[in-house]
Amino acid sequence: DTDKKNFVREVRNVLFSEIKPEPLKRNPKLAAVSDQVLSDILNLDPDRALAQTDFLKFANGDLNVRNQILFAHRYGGHQFSHWAGQLGDGRAIMLGEYVNHLGERWELQLKGSGKTPYSRRGDGKAVIRSSVREFLCSEAMFALGIPTTRAASLVVSDDPVIRDQFYNGNIKKERAAVVLRLAPSWFRIGSLEILATHNEIDNLRSLVDFIIVNYFPFINASDPDRVLAFYQEIVEKTARMIALWQSVGFTHGVCNTDNFSILSLTIDYGPFGFMDNYDPQFVPNTSDDEGLYKYERQPDVGWFNLNKLRIALLPLMNKKQKKQADIILDGYSGIFKSKYMEIFLKKLGFVGMTTYTEDDEQFLAVLLKIMEDTKADFTMTFRELSEISLKDLNKYIKDTSLFPEYWTLPDLVNHSWFESWLNLYKQKLEDANISEIQRQSIMKKTNPRYILRNWIAQAVIEQTQKNNFEDIHSVLNILTNPFTYNKVAEQRGLAGPPPDWAGKLRVSCSS
Ligand code: AMP
Ligand code: MG
Ligand code: MG
Repeated sequence: DTDKKNFVREVRNVLFSEIKPEPLKRNPKLAAVSDQVLSDILNLDPDRALAQTDFLKFANGDLNVRNQILFAHRYGGHQFSHWAGQLGDGRAIMLGEYVNHLGERWELQLKGSGKTPYSRRGDGKAVIRSSVREFLCSEAMFALGIPTTRAASLVVSDDPVIRDQFYNGNIKKERAAVVLRLAPSWFRIGSLEILATHNEIDNLRSLVDFIIVNYFPFINASDPDRVLAFYQEIVEKTARMIALWQSVGFTHGVCNTDNFSILSLTIDYGPFGFMDNYDPQFVPNTSDDEGLYKYERQPDVGWFNLNKLRIALLPLMNKKQKKQADIILDGYSGIFKSKYMEIFLKKLGFVGMTTYTEDDEQFLAVLLKIMEDTKADFTMTFRELSEISLKDLNKYIKDTSLFPEYWTLPDLVNHSWFESWLNLYKQKLEDANISEIQRQSIMKKTNPRYILRNWIAQAVIEQTQKNNFEDIHSVLNILTNPFTYNKVAEQRGLAGPPPDWAGKLRVSCSS
């Protein structure tokens, strides 16, 4: 009996609860699949999956569950800095593990397939709006080379779902959708926190050892210091993930510890945003009044979350190890800074710069300040600097009518600091022995031309809500090749200034 398994409750002393999915009922349709995930990970033919009903049934949770055990994961977390108690998979269901032709293990989840013991006041459902965003962004982030969970498919239906879009009493009837998503593991910092908080130390130890053996095979599982090695690894990987977020203007929106993966993957795409104009104060989530999770704060939030992880691991450490863990966390800022500098210097054409100087920092800070002052588009500043030759850039400073195709550069070059910054740039390239051809080639492979801007996501959402599924495939195709000039994308202005209506778009936690 589904109700008996899925009823909402506080659960103790376990990691998972057995549940049954509730497939979407009215007119479930396979709106989109990710060709890459289906063929490269799941060994499936995307065209067949789209054409045949068996994949739709699977992706909708319409399974013959008699001999299968499906489950929801129990986790807790710090939400907006406060301990929130038991959270858990409130609308996600683990279907199991798939081992593919490469021997990779992937955990498959449905998101939006009904209530679980962890649904709290929620309905276990997801709407088309947020599901389109998760589907597209997972795949877009992967294409940008950023560690992320993946999305295989999107199923939409006519099942009604009630949502208050902006937490202001603006109640709207929307339609339910389900995303089939994949990750090597879905464990989060909150998975460990809940065990430590409730003093379930045996489970905590078992889980940490399980994670080490399965996902950190290079750590010696019988080393008495293995928990420290594990912690060190997560600190480094999380620093790298956040540096990569910063490098594409990605702002997660809800950096709670339950949304921070133990594998340092970007997880839980909700009210995220890629910034348009460079603005360190950018807050994509209208539910985040205080800007706790604004772009500029993400590195600090990483520290906060890693500190919560440290605290969760304390019961597994002796006195000396606890001191070591403090030292590891103290190293976070330095690790972050060097990853950040490495990645941003690469955005300007300098590869393999594993050390950086104060002078490099100054050089980058000046460019960012020029961008901020001129409200330059973050993505296109780096892209246009990749596409224009430095020789032309010199001419351009004198006469911006020369190259009408650029839209961020005119304001940028008119800034009073730009010319001296450019001279410094040239000097640095010369010192590093990087030719103009190398510079442009590295930069075009590093700086995307197409990102999932809010207005692009909105345009796709509106088409998908009309059951027109061409657009989602077309945009997916563009975003999974973000460095390659694409005619369709150009015709639609996807690398151009956002339309006027884009400024009015808002996203909240409601999903
Ligand atoms: P999020 O802000 O998306 O990370 O979600 C925080 C918590 O709320 C997680 O435990 C989710 O599973 C849960 N949750 C979010 N939306 C729903 C929903 N519609 N029904 C049940 N649980 C939900
Ligand atoms: Mg979440
Ligand atoms: Mg969410």
